[in-house]
Amino acid sequence: MEKDKQDAHLPPFYRALKRYAKGKPALWSTPGHASGNGLKACPAGKDFYEFFGHNLFQADMSSSVEELGSLLEHEGAPAEAEKRAAEVFGADTTFFVLNGTSTANKVAFFATVKPGDLVLVGRNCHKSIMHAIIMNEAIPVYLTPKPCSYGLIGPIDFAQFTKENIRAKISSNPLTTNPKAAKVQLAVITNCTYDGVIYHAGKVKARMADLTHFLLFDEAWYAYAAFHPFYEGRYAMTPRTKRRTQSPALFATQSTHKLLLAFSQCSMLHFRQGSGPQELDPRGLVEANLMHASTSPFYPLFASLDVNTQIMKDSGYDLINKALDIALRFRGAVRRAGARFDKHGDWWFSVWQPAKKRLEKDPADWALKPGDSWTGMDISAEDDYILDPLKVTLLTPGVHADASMDEFGIPACVVKKYLAARGVVAEKNGFYNLLFLFAPGVSTTRTAQLLRVLHDFKWEYADNSPVSKWFADIAAQYPHRYDGLGLADLCQQMHDFLRERDIMRRTMEMYTQLPPQAVAPHKAYYGLASGRTEYVPLSQAPGRVSVLMILPYPPGVPVMMPGERFGALDSPILEFLRVNEELENRFPGFGTEFHGIKKVWENGRLRYFVCVLNKTKKGGAV
Ligand SMILES: *Cc1c(COP(=O)(O)O)cnc(C)c1O
Repeated sequence: MEKDKQDAHLPPFYRALKRYAKGKPALWSTPGHASGNGLKACPAGKDFYEFFGHNLFQADMSSSVEELGSLLEHEGAPAEAEKRAAEVFGADTTFFVLNGTSTANKVAFFATVKPGDLVLVGRNCHKSIMHAIIMNEAIPVYLTPKPCSYGLIGPIDFAQFTKENIRAKISSNPLTTNPKAAKVQLAVITNCTYDGVIYHAGKVKARMADLTHFLLFDEAWYAYAAFHPFYEGRYAMTPRTKRRTQSPALFATQSTHKLLLAFSQCSMLHFRQGSGPQELDPRGLVEANLMHASTSPFYPLFASLDVNTQIMKDSGYDLINKALDIALRFRGAVRRAGARFDKHGDWWFSVWQPAKKRLEKDPADWALKPGDSWTGMDISAEDDYILDPLKVTLLTPGVHADASMDEFGIPACVVKKYLAARGVVAEKNGFYNLLFLFAPGVSTTRTAQLLRVLHDFKWEYADNSPVSKWFADIAAQYPHRYDGLGLADLCQQMHDFLRERDIMRRTMEMYTQLPPQAVAPHKAYYGLASGRTEYVPLSQAPGRVSVLMILPYPPGVPVMMPGERFGALDSPILEFLRVNEELENRFPGFGTEFHGIKKVWENGRLRYFVCVLNKTKKGGAV
């Protein structure tokens, strides 16, 4: 009993799990390691057991332990934990999802979408949304992101959230059987975008009320918004106002592991009924979740979501406020260093943010406004976005707000690789930008280290220090290419190449000029199962229909969907792929990772192949 009292401050599921595990029950059930005992038989197992520690194994139990309720049927302590999370995060219903937001998104789709239904998705969304479209055999209607001349993937224009635009998109969609439809079944908005652009969610909800039955905000990078007034009104589960505003039924999916404090794979699915009369049967959510969940969930993951809720309830504001303070200070330090270097005609990284000198924790300071050149985007008066101070994008020299490129430039992939060699890992990079996330775990020690290493890069660049000193692995693998080459030489050669190929304009076009849809995504995908596929080099891709999703990694946003037809060789996507193929041949070791591209060495050259549908029996391309 004494022990119970000690644990009174713990949240319900974690408390129950800990108490049960500490009781050292004799388990005649799975998992077979039996609280880790089975692992001790050999040195590797023993090491593994000792590295992670006894408690983790003791807490890894079968879901047949009745005392711990049911995760899958949402009963007992797990249900209590989810109910608390719903209160803390502002939802009607919350589910803890153990295979990431990738799965939470699919659960939202399976609860609402039937084959043939129209779904409206921003083309700046995560691949899991595209997977859900394939799995549900839905018909996608795409919203195009705003072009951004810095190679970032912009948000969706507010002007696209109108009846006229949605109707026009539906009626011109070649795949729909219902071109007169006025509404879609589900719409998906990625909030915030990968580069930290936040929509005014309240305005999006109001605009979408008549356009979709369900609205999913993919908040994978944004689970903290409910805990700081900076984000008020700008996230899905913003508290309802007394005057009930119009809104479709809402989902928000959040990777609790990404910017909050849970273990990897831990995600939350939040749901709220809409303002209309049609309500979702909650059992639909339970069933959709069952379809995607393992019947053997890992309890420590579930407990980490429960603990995360408790932390955010108790200290959410303080954590986010501190992260904001640190991010603001870091941004200021980079900007000030830039002003000094600039005085001496020397280069430095710039921060992608409003030009105002002292940015405060006031959303008005962070607005993307019409005419602001720093955005690299064309913002209109009806748009309502702010930049999230916690997502810090640094631009490397060489590019301008109008997508033109200087003679001098430093590609970000070289900086990223240098940082990695120094033990500093950026979240992602584009050709001339790098993203750093300021999560609640950030500290001033870490930002000081980052600043120091960025400065070090500048001096190594000035010294033109040998490539082999920093990138020993690739220098050893490709000695002919990198022997005697310095860091500055490498940057300039790569920049010259990218400039010659007008890469900024290419990137911008690729995300905003979509290829035509030839067949529904699921139909193209089924080509794999029915053996109707072949791999062709890029030169033979024009006119053919892609079987796979193609996405550069990072950022992991699909540029080609199954069922879409490749355009001419100089169309944005093929040109982008060809530039990357050439880049990788000229600068081996600096290639972009792609999903959906097969890379093959042939006669000392690397060639990219894409997977397309076979020609039909009649001989014509599908
Ligand atoms: C990462 C990400 C996901 C998937 O989340 P996981 O938790 O990694 O499965 C979904 N949507 C967006 C926008 C993401 O960035």
